[in-house]
Amino acid sequence: MGAIGDNLQAVRARIVAAAAAAGREPSAIGLLAVSKIFSAEAVAEARASGQRAFGESYVQEAVDKILQLAGCDIEWHFIGPIQSNKTRLIAEHFHWVHSISTLKIARRLSEQRPAWRGPLSVCLQVNVSGESTKSGVSETELPALAAAVATLPGLRLRGLMCIPAPADGFEAQRQPFARLGRMRERLVADGLCLDTLSMGMSDDLEAAVAEGATWVRVGTAIFGARPVAAAGTIGVRPGV
Ligand SMILES: *Cc1c(COP(=O)(O)O)cnc(C)c1O
Repeated sequence: MGAIGDNLQAVRARIVAAAAAAGREPSAIGLLAVSKIFSAEAVAEARASGQRAFGESYVQEAVDKILQLAGCDIEWHFIGPIQSNKTRLIAEHFHWVHSISTLKIARRLSEQRPAWRGPLSVCLQVNVSGESTKSGVSETELPALAAAVATLPGLRLRGLMCIPAPADGFEAQRQPFARLGRMRERLVADGLCLDTLSMGMSDDLEAAVAEGATWVRVGTAIFGARPVAAAGTIGVRPGV
């Protein structure tokens, strides 16, 4: 097995151990391999090691890979910031979107979703850390947004997603994930049917699993470190 296959096995073992520690079924936790910046070849290598769900953050780069890997039975998840002029490409090419934070974007995705693909599974991204620089809907505005998105015919509202500010240590990492879990419980009590918590990355997936994550989104621990210059540059890949 190559490095990516070995890394995948190690990440899966982390998820199984975290699930056991939390008294959860490992099968309740999906692994989303975040392949942004990495090539279609890297994705194919992970696919050959049994990984099926992949997360992407940059629309054009992602669509290039999706077209190259058509026929590989991959489930594609969009997890990055969404500009209005990119919603059509996202609606046409992805199975899931984790990063909706406005009704305007949700409406466009719903209108532009091709009927033959069936409703697009979506999560609302919540700004759990309250930082003005982080995107996501605020906890205050979440219930109204969730109620509105739940009525859109082209979308299926599945749950909530967050990217907390980095924190050191298991207990500190758990806090924002626990908050997101409580937000989902309140929405469910209000009558919404939400089965998804998209939370946890390479450095904090154990804490997210402890608080009920159903998707963990892992990039670095699978594909290695992303080139720093490229990682901050939307839509640009190294060497392009
Ligand atoms: C890049 C990214 C990840 C993966 O982060 P790692 O720390 O590399 O595991 C997860 N979620 C989102 C939204 C991302 O943009």
